[in-house]
Amino acid sequence: MFVLSTAVVASHRVAIGRAFVVERGVAPRAVEACDRSALECFNEALAQSREQIESLACGSDIFEAHLEMIDDPMIAEAVAEGIAQGMDAAEAVRCACEQIVAMFEAIDDEYLRARKDDVRDIFARIEANLLGGVENPFEGVQQGDIVVDRELFPSDMAQLDLNSIGGFVTALGSTTSHICIVARNHSLAAVVGVGDAVGQIATGQTVIVDGAQGRVVVEPDEATLTLYREQMAQAEREAQLQGAVAHQSVSYRGKPIKVYANAGSVEDVERAVAAGADGIGLFRSEFLYISSAAEPTEEEQYEAYLAAARACQGRVLTIRTLDIGGDKAVPYLNFEREENPFLGWRAIRVSLECREMFHRQLRALLRASAHGSVRVMFPMISCLEELRQAKAELELCKGQLEREGVAFDRNIEVGVMIETPAAVLVADSLACECDFFSIGTNDLTQYIMAADRANSRVAKLYNPYSKAVLRAVAMSLDAANRADIECGMCGELASDSAATAMLADMGLSEFSVNVGAVAEIKWTISKL
Ligand code: PEP
Ligand code: MG
Repeated sequence: MFVLSTAVVASHRVAIGRAFVVERGVAPRAVEACDRSALECFNEALAQSREQIESLACGSDIFEAHLEMIDDPMIAEAVAEGIAQGMDAAEAVRCACEQIVAMFEAIDDEYLRARKDDVRDIFARIEANLLGGVENPFEGVQQGDIVVDRELFPSDMAQLDLNSIGGFVTALGSTTSHICIVARNHSLAAVVGVGDAVGQIATGQTVIVDGAQGRVVVEPDEATLTLYREQMAQAEREAQLQGAVAHQSVSYRGKPIKVYANAGSVEDVERAVAAGADGIGLFRSEFLYISSAAEPTEEEQYEAYLAAARACQGRVLTIRTLDIGGDKAVPYLNFEREENPFLGWRAIRVSLECREMFHRQLRALLRASAHGSVRVMFPMISCLEELRQAKAELELCKGQLEREGVAFDRNIEVGVMIETPAAVLVADSLACECDFFSIGTNDLTQYIMAADRANSRVAKLYNPYSKAVLRAVAMSLDAANRADIECGMCGELASDSAATAMLADMGLSEFSVNVGAVAEIKWTISKL
């Protein structure tokens, strides 16, 4: 028996299973291929990769996104530049990949940053095609297996049957890696970031993946197995209890409490509804903007919002307008380098300046509001004027649609994310001019504590339980209460069951949580 460990918390689940160590072989390439120029070889591998992704794309969000990404001229241009500098095709592909991944790594937003895994995934496919061809590395995976690899890509997730495997162990990866998001959303055990030690595991060995402790026990002894089996049985009993309340409404002290989910795609909305969410408290619209080389059209956005509204089946769908900017740049917007991107041109500030783009988004979501219980929410509001301007743009779009005879919900609810200290301090004024608040503790914590949410050196200060942050939460709730509007929370603190009792006591009536936390938070509330 030996143990591998990591400090990265990927998912809190535990699984015991047979290790399946992935071997990524490539078919040998014919020798004559070397005669062609590096650029020709790359173009052929690119076309081949595109074809493969296209054949995998139908119905898969991951491959649909890959299809859009592979067509981004940035990829071909970066590789061509490397080749022009004298690199061979494979070298140029690796170098271009590093450049583009570095751009994504600088992004603050967790969801968008995780897209770097898609970039690496696409480049790995191109490189494999360049060197010979892609083979299915998961042939032979059995029910309950623990998939072990140096790194797992988003496209791997689409090729694996996530309902039949036990979990993952990888050498690389951080909390924000795509694989961790998948593990949390599918309630799978995962330990990532164990480093080269992963090479000590062999296919067929028994492994315990302890996601909560960040430990992998290889070839455990009987006593350890018994201990873990008992722990899993206890977790299973709790999950059953949680599952029993997941689809029920919950209340605290006679007051109904909504447990909504946060979603970053239409697929997430479907999973949230299946998990028992009372609605979607935060639909991050960024995925539409980041996954394409050009701004999504009104029609494309309408289709996505409509699909999300339909998936909600009458439940609330809170669409947050574009939260992009500063360090999360998209190529079609004119972002300049900023000294302090977190304090710079972000979110509502971008929307209010790029009015036509804002109108396209507002029109699309208004049109979707005719088909569901859609609410609109503005991010990063820091003064009343911003809310008033945003609402004026919304009214303008309503007027246009009315004149065009297009259906929409005239009384669509308008909300504000409380995620800047300024919003907290003027919450009383904001509350008089909107229909609901949603407290974004992720940003609120970083701004109140002056501690970058992505900087591990100040992680100790970045604490949503800090007295200052909790006072800000209380002040926001109080302002909402006095104006008699709803106040929810969509930051990570809402997903933390250790905070549920405290938040409910403070008067929070709307928790918007990770899809994987819906049942647990409902259960926790029902027990209060
Ligand atoms: C937040 O800031 O708490 C939030 C929910 O928004 P995001 O994490 O997308 O910035
Ligand atoms: Mg935020």
